[in-house]
Amino acid sequence: MRNTHDTKLIFDLSKPGRRAARLPACDVPERDLAELLPAAALADAPPALPEVPDPQVIRHLVNLSTLTMSVDTNFYPLGSCTMKYNPKRNERAAAMPGFADVHPYQSDATIQGMLEVLYNMQESLQEISGLPACSLQPAAGAHGELTALLVAAAYFRDIDEPRTKVLCPDNAHGTNPASAAMAGFDAITLKTTADGYVDLDDLDAKLDESVAVLMITNPSTLGLFEPNMREIADRVHAKGGLIYLDGANMNAILGITRPGDFGADMQHYNPHKTFSGPHGGGGPGAGPICVTDKLAPYLPAPIVRKSGEDYSLDFDMPKSIGRVRAFFGNVGVLLRAYAYIRTHGPDGLKRVSENAVLNANYLLSRVKHILPVPQGNRCMHEFVASGKDLKRDKDISAMDIAKRLLDFGVHAPTVYFPLTVPEAIMVEPTETESKETLDAFAEILFRITEEDAQTLHDAPHTTAVSRPDEVRAARQPVLVHAE
Ligand SMILES: *Cc1c(COP(=O)(O)O)cnc(C)c1O
Repeated sequence: MRNTHDTKLIFDLSKPGRRAARLPACDVPERDLAELLPAAALADAPPALPEVPDPQVIRHLVNLSTLTMSVDTNFYPLGSCTMKYNPKRNERAAAMPGFADVHPYQSDATIQGMLEVLYNMQESLQEISGLPACSLQPAAGAHGELTALLVAAAYFRDIDEPRTKVLCPDNAHGTNPASAAMAGFDAITLKTTADGYVDLDDLDAKLDESVAVLMITNPSTLGLFEPNMREIADRVHAKGGLIYLDGANMNAILGITRPGDFGADMQHYNPHKTFSGPHGGGGPGAGPICVTDKLAPYLPAPIVRKSGEDYSLDFDMPKSIGRVRAFFGNVGVLLRAYAYIRTHGPDGLKRVSENAVLNANYLLSRVKHILPVPQGNRCMHEFVASGKDLKRDKDISAMDIAKRLLDFGVHAPTVYFPLTVPEAIMVEPTETESKETLDAFAEILFRITEEDAQTLHDAPHTTAVSRPDEVRAARQPVLVHAE
């Protein structure tokens, strides 16, 4: 349809999805490519591409797809990662030609619809976080952490306060200290108590004017809401430091509380977790960040602005840290997230979190007798059980349970994270699972813990590959075409 000889089809991007009139052809005459290239650069013969019949290609790809577990094929309680159902309506919204066919170098005037949606996304994220400024640019949660820390560094440089340290609790996601180091800070570990909360004495011992930022995940990776959050924020602010909220667990608090209200100065979102974007296997994601007014001038440019009824990309930000990603961010992921936010609306988002917390607590109450949960009888959206006793009494490890679950058609939970819980098994059912699915999962867990140890050591028994060396498989994959 596009680029026919006499007309060029364009889309009216001010109204996503609607096609516009045909433009007259451009009058530059078309020339044969062969005339433009030096003769020595031309091929002598067409390439000898392999001929593969269409059905064979389709079978190959469909069969490959069946080797992969996904939220569309199996229950996927992967704690911390929020593998929730990916509504198909999000896909339709993101695929509308007014979005999907936009060229990043189009002028603002021709992409008013796209800019309006991105502007509304900024506004929505600001409202949900309680923080007044937003950049959609970062490409993933970890990238949002790095970007926000670069923003913080720029802020401290600007006010002439050289600060060198970033504090991270010992149960933090590994990306937190990694981002701190990449942004040029010294990452300092904060102790947590046996209950899983920040150790306030250790905070006092490590907090001084050299601390730029305290990074905290709240609710934490243990599925606990930090009861001293306000106190922690006050102590950090009193020393001139900033609070960074790792927003990976926003699934638990949407519409119930806001990081900006409990002391955060900046946060990232993982739209691919919290707002149902499909992800896994390393992508795709996005990591928009929200910050307070005093940090807003340092955000990456451009930001989408609204003036009257017009939307534009604002590059005129002299204090900006500059770009962290090409163009406006990972728009496909942001559009799916926007569709999810608008589908639910304010009340619906609150229900999302209420159901996520309810489902996690239901499952916790069903499994804690066989898999004790050291930090609490109640949780937020996820909980971390410990397989320590099973390991001691029956020689069954968290890894054995994770692997055996695959034989029952369940994706493994996150295991061995956080490191503060021995034989950790981190379960996040999400809000979209039914009671029947949660019950079935609990039954499978009971059954597995009754099995003999050898069956578990040899598991999985039903997958194409049993127990690969996971590090080597990721670093040196053997990619062969299976006939
Ligand atoms: C997933 C996650 C991150 C990193 O986010 P990505 O989008 O995977 O880069 C950071 N912190 C926590 C707690 C997470 O669960």
